[in-house]
Amino acid sequence: MVRGVVQGVGFRPFVFCLAERHGLSGEVCNTSGAVLIEIEGPPGAVDAFSMALEREAPPLARIDGITADDIPAAGDATFRIVESRSVAGEYQPISPDAGTCDACLRELLDPADRRHRYPFLNCTDCGPRFTIIEELPYDRPLTTMRAFTMCALCQAEYEDPRNRRFHAQPNACRLCGPRLWLADTAGSERAGDAIALAAALLCDGGIVALRGMGGFQLACDAGDEAAVARLRTRKRRPAKPFAVMVVDVAAARLLCEISDAEAAALLQPARPVVLLRRRADAPMAPGVAPGLDELGLLLPSTPLHHLLLRDAGRPLVMTSGNLSEEPIARDNDEALARLGGIADALLLHDRGIAARYDDSVVRVVGGEQRMIRRARGFAPLPVAVAGRAPQILAVGAHLKNTFTVLRDGRAFVGPHIGELDSPLTLEHQAETLRAYLRLFRCAPDRVVADLHPDYASTALAEAWWEQGAAVVRVQHHHAHIASVMAEHALRGPVLGIAFDGVGLGPDGTLWGGEILVCDERGYERRGHIASVRQPGGDACAREGWRMAAAYLAATGRGSESVPRWMDGEAAGELPADRSWRLVSRLSVSDIAPVSTSAGRLFDAVASVLGVAHRSSYEAEAAIRLEAVARAAHAAGVEALPVTLAGDPLVLDTPALVAALADRRAAGVDGAELAAVFHESLAVAVAEACIQLARQTGIRRAALSGGVFQNTLLSTRVADLLRERGLDVYTNRAVPANDGGISLGQALVGAATAPHEEVA
Ligand code: ZN
Ligand code: ZN
Ligand code: FE
Repeated sequence: MVRGVVQGVGFRPFVFCLAERHGLSGEVCNTSGAVLIEIEGPPGAVDAFSMALEREAPPLARIDGITADDIPAAGDATFRIVESRSVAGEYQPISPDAGTCDACLRELLDPADRRHRYPFLNCTDCGPRFTIIEELPYDRPLTTMRAFTMCALCQAEYEDPRNRRFHAQPNACRLCGPRLWLADTAGSERAGDAIALAAALLCDGGIVALRGMGGFQLACDAGDEAAVARLRTRKRRPAKPFAVMVVDVAAARLLCEISDAEAAALLQPARPVVLLRRRADAPMAPGVAPGLDELGLLLPSTPLHHLLLRDAGRPLVMTSGNLSEEPIARDNDEALARLGGIADALLLHDRGIAARYDDSVVRVVGGEQRMIRRARGFAPLPVAVAGRAPQILAVGAHLKNTFTVLRDGRAFVGPHIGELDSPLTLEHQAETLRAYLRLFRCAPDRVVADLHPDYASTALAEAWWEQGAAVVRVQHHHAHIASVMAEHALRGPVLGIAFDGVGLGPDGTLWGGEILVCDERGYERRGHIASVRQPGGDACAREGWRMAAAYLAATGRGSESVPRWMDGEAAGELPADRSWRLVSRLSVSDIAPVSTSAGRLFDAVASVLGVAHRSSYEAEAAIRLEAVARAAHAAGVEALPVTLAGDPLVLDTPALVAALADRRAAGVDGAELAAVFHESLAVAVAEACIQLARQTGIRRAALSGGVFQNTLLSTRVADLLRERGLDVYTNRAVPANDGGISLGQALVGAATAPHEEVA
């Protein structure tokens, strides 16, 4: 019996060929829980078979465990693959989708091959998986491929154990499989080669919506500033960077600096967007990633993308097929209705998508991959969480929402859902959650939610409570740190540094620059950045200048009008003097909420230094601040001192902002000061952590929260802590941002469950 990701990855044919090679008889079948193998033959051959089973497993397989029992000989003469068996209550991990493999790509581009330019070719090593699966076990009748009957040629491949399409469930060809066509925005099909037509349209500055693996994407010529600007207007996405698809790694190198680890990240089967250092001479429309020194690149993930990129012969913007912040469109009719106003034409097909999945986003830091957005190609691979625990549903945070379904030590972290604000997104969440609970046979008796009473996810937890599930509330920053603990199997006390935008503290104030001493069950707040007022609450995240006004007012530098030295390149983003005056006054009144948000500290500094006064997408000002700091960051930037005092230990960050403001007012370069700010904050945070390590004897530090996606900050803090002998842990498999919250919630929910042990 083999458990793990062993279905839909060519495992049975692999077993078949292995048995044949070793001259063994018997059978293999999928059950919804595992792959079951019965073999018969001489003991030496059986041993050799067993050893090869794990060593030579196919590329997409992930084996969690193999168990073996002796059974009476059946006397079979041959080895057979038998019908799948569904066992009630059993489930198993499912492979995520995988990008087109090299063998399939060769066929796709070979004029002599019968699948030349067929946009749906795939094999047991590549192609759609989770996005087409409706039920387990993974067999064609339980996928959206059910609608297509294989032709004789495809059927022969499917039945031939020596063929690489043996039991490839989505196997298809032009004669029998899904069909692609180009439609205008009224839905009428255009005559001709759909991909060639779409490519010509793109080269002409048009916008094309295409139905990819997990849903629709929007494409345009990445070198055409007018096309990019049109896409931004129509999609209502003023500045958030677009990802760009390039045909191969060589094409990627023309746009970005790429290390070996980064090339491997681009080429992995998940084909995520990889955030890369952009080359100064990159031939790219400025509107693709305004003001940033990074660019998100991805390689083609499906045959359709391969063909489109080759026909267009240039890099293409490839972004989610939605209006800003909505879920991506999935079905043809839905795309016509929702994307008809954005795209000039749509590439449609008739292979159904069971699960809606956005592109994943990663970054390589210090040679190691970090997840920024975990979706297509990664979910639903489980994260191992050791120990026995009840079945748990963790509903996540409000922004960048994900959920986690935990059972049998496997945390199935769901895909990136997004902001739970619109009815469409809530529907997407409900639909995805239902699928996970059904496929992984989970009926949670414990539901974990944030402390925040107004989150839509909290309402979801309450609905479960009404059905009899126990509800556990976990503080936001404790959950951030617990997500790191879950990934690294850490148990017992750690020093947790959780820096992010905002999470509710148990005292009712807004937390976000926290140092916790915590374990998997509870936490103590032992340090934080100094609190200031957040005038206008959530509005401060979009209007960072409000935080500048608040920090200046808090340090006796309040003014009736916008200080003239704040003018700079971003001067157009500054408010009118009247607004500045009102906000300055508000920030010293009791009406504005008290906040220790590190994200808002970055907003304040970005504004004070004249880098950015507003954010059109989450953390824009902080991201721009990091970009200018990196450009100015020569070796030997000197930190300004930050006072640490009290218990909990308070970092005097307002004094730091004041010192930066005074230097800026005296004419020091904003970019240089941005680098000084990063260095000063890193040194102060590390110093606070080291003081707490000394007091508590804890030598393990865990860093999490969206602010640590700032690599300048996170790398420096980690280096400083390691220099002082601490072990430093960060998120890898799940995002450090709120996308990782549900995993942390699940761990705390499991650890605090009565009568259960988490090892
Ligand atoms: Zn393939
Ligand atoms: Zn066929
Ligand atoms: Fe957070």
